[in-house]
Amino acid sequence: MTSTKPTVLVTGGAGHIGSQTCKALAASGYLPVAVDNMVYGHEWAVRWGPLEVADILDGDRLDQIILRYKPRAVLHFAAYAYVGESVMDPGKYYRNNVVGSLSLLQAMARHSIDRMVFSSTCATYGNPLHLPIREDHPQAPINPYGASKQMVERIMADFGVAHGLRSTALRYFNAAGADPDGELGEHHDPETHLIPLVLDAASGKRSHIEIYGDDYDTADGTCVRDYIHVADLADAHVLALSRLEGAEPGMRPYNLGNGKGHSVREVIAAAERVTGLTVPTLAGPRRAGDPENLVGDATQALRELGWQPKHADLETIVQHAWRWHQKNSNTHARDAKFA
Ligand code: UDP
Repeated sequence: MTSTKPTVLVTGGAGHIGSQTCKALAASGYLPVAVDNMVYGHEWAVRWGPLEVADILDGDRLDQIILRYKPRAVLHFAAYAYVGESVMDPGKYYRNNVVGSLSLLQAMARHSIDRMVFSSTCATYGNPLHLPIREDHPQAPINPYGASKQMVERIMADFGVAHGLRSTALRYFNAAGADPDGELGEHHDPETHLIPLVLDAASGKRSHIEIYGDDYDTADGTCVRDYIHVADLADAHVLALSRLEGAEPGMRPYNLGNGKGHSVREVIAAAERVTGLTVPTLAGPRRAGDPENLVGDATQALRELGWQPKHADLETIVQHAWRWHQKNSNTHARDAKFA
């Protein structure tokens, strides 16, 4: 299949951040081809290019897809991303996230595709030694999920030396919010992320939100995170892709965050302001493996990619998530109908 637009493969293109990035790619003149095994992806989220249902572990399928669409680059989102599950079932994470990424990189090498933007994570840093976290902070992940992402970063760097791969690892802080136009949003099963759970508690879908620890050494005792809007993440991918055009072989990491921390209680207060509803809370024990404070320094992405987050304010992030949450009951119904 030939297109006059430059074609980009987007693994995990039917997922939350992948689909938002497909939208941003299309707006910038690319044809995004979503490659997704549909374990967590949604067909309704693929709207800006074709969907190829395939597992990145399947090298033959990747060959077919690459021969069909002749992509010039790959944006790689496909991964399992539940930290707790990664501790209980590390094999699943190393197989899918590491072996799957290796299979993808080998397919790219077979077809001389030499550009990749990879979804990495601040979980590769582990417990921070100092804040805000810069890219040169030591990487010492404390769970298999973070370790799996760090290993892929290393493999990408090695493929740079051996095969001339030009790659970027985007280390996200806490992805949040929903499409500003209301077309896309988060729909995880099970849902474990704070903002959607807080909105469930506001709307009565859940009886309350459990606060995982209120005895941390932070201003109000609850954990602090750097929340970053999904549309801003999507923009960063498009910018990272164009930076690779003239780049030398090698792997460059960039943090993506707003550089501003918000506590769990601040998120709850923002949700109450946005929704006008009360969020019932219950203080519970700490969640294993939760660092107390994670805030990123994204100066390099601002400077070198020309990235400028447009929705940095927490209330805007929660506002967009709330709009999606209200619309999402229809999506639930649609998924149930076609299941
Ligand atoms: N959190 C919480 N209750 C919940 C879910 C999350 O208190 O039901 C806290 C969690 O401990 C962390 C923050 O909210 O400090 C963000 O958690 P999330 O799972 O959204 O993202 P993570 O930081 O784990 O990537």
